[in-house]
Amino acid sequence: MDIITIIYIMLALSVSSFFVMFAVYSAIEKNFRPVIVSIIITIILISIFLLIYNFDIHNIFKLVTILTIVSFIFLYFTPFGKTSDISVIKSDEKFDERDTMFARNDYKPDSKKYNEYYRINPDKKKIDDKLRSMPDLLERGGKYFDHNRAAYVKGLFEIEGLLANYTEGGINPQKTIINQHEATKLIKEKAIHLGAAEVGIVLLDQRWVYSNVGRGPEKWGAQIKNNHKFVVCYTVEMDYYKVSNAPDFDVIEESANQYINAQKISITLANFIRELGYSARAHVSGSNYQIIMPAVAYGAGLGELGRHGYLISKKYGSRVRLGAITTDIPLIADKPVMLGVQDFCKICRKCAHNCPSKAITEGKKQMVRGVEKWQLNIEQCYRYWRSMGTDCALCMKVCPFSHPNNVVHNVVRYGIKKSSIARRISLWGDNLFYGK
Ligand code: SF4
Ligand code: SF4
Repeated sequence: MDIITIIYIMLALSVSSFFVMFAVYSAIEKNFRPVIVSIIITIILISIFLLIYNFDIHNIFKLVTILTIVSFIFLYFTPFGKTSDISVIKSDEKFDERDTMFARNDYKPDSKKYNEYYRINPDKKKIDDKLRSMPDLLERGGKYFDHNRAAYVKGLFEIEGLLANYTEGGINPQKTIINQHEATKLIKEKAIHLGAAEVGIVLLDQRWVYSNVGRGPEKWGAQIKNNHKFVVCYTVEMDYYKVSNAPDFDVIEESANQYINAQKISITLANFIRELGYSARAHVSGSNYQIIMPAVAYGAGLGELGRHGYLISKKYGSRVRLGAITTDIPLIADKPVMLGVQDFCKICRKCAHNCPSKAITEGKKQMVRGVEKWQLNIEQCYRYWRSMGTDCALCMKVCPFSHPNNVVHNVVRYGIKKSSIARRISLWGDNLFYGK
């Protein structure tokens, strides 16, 4: 057998195996459209490969096939074009936690908070009153309301509310002397042991600290001061199958569950660091955050901010929730990463197309408090949550980065990170396999 035929057979087998593997992984993911599409592609490819193998006696078509496959692989994996980063400029502007949608949702008409908030922000009163008049999440009236499951999730959120009281505590006066390398390794190890999926560290930028308390057990409206040097930030994975059922009830159940997991990690890590003799504060949902989580997670090198406003993490894409602690224990900071998300989001827009409330822009980024990003319309988004009675997450579900962390999807992620050509091919492939 000549060398061209041997290379031809090897490449034909590799390409066919890739699509078979893709079909198997998709079947495991219970995603039947990509199973069918990859089986059809495999059958077409094998037929063409066999046809060429049997009838191409002068090896011309085998050579053309080899060159086509090699060129494709080369173009897909070779860095091609520029990969954009998130543009950040100096700004002292801070975000007030009282302006978050969840905080605004809590202002009961004619209460002290309500009167004070809408005296300062009269422009928000009409839209917020309208939102408050709709059925609340987990209450009868939402499209996906289910009495038993709502009761279960309310129970989870109740625990979440209780845990929000355990963010701080006494510091052991007998300080353990530990260097920054040891401390970084130890804390990252413990975070993973407690259930974090990915962990990163960043110096705390004061822009990421909310200006005033908007929710949680601390005094509403109080100025937030956090002078810790570092943030340890981490992701917890949202279950792929639960997210695949968005915006059904599965997704809010999974969100509540992962928020509690994240709280457990933050509270335990902060306790541990205080036991070592250093100051530490857990930042947990429910809500006792002092810092803006997606911005911190980006700074800590966990991923990039997507068009939908969520973090897109290295391993699990949009399918994550975030947690953090701030601390003074000496640590080594990580650096932001470039995954090709900014460039991919520019051409993708799947979340915007599929967002039922049109809360995600199809347009360009804006400069928001010194960070260039796609700005979400939070009122529109929240209106849809209330009409469904769940936290929607359709944008998380359709995002091409949300596919499971396995070899097939990681090959695609690698291409997206490196090459502008790969981004175009990957988007075309995602539409073909998963639909628009
Ligand atoms: S959660 Fe739903 S409504 Fe909100 S931005 Fe995402 S897709 Fe749109
Ligand atoms: S769906 Fe597309 S545009 Fe939206 S965040 Fe994901 S990659 Fe970006």
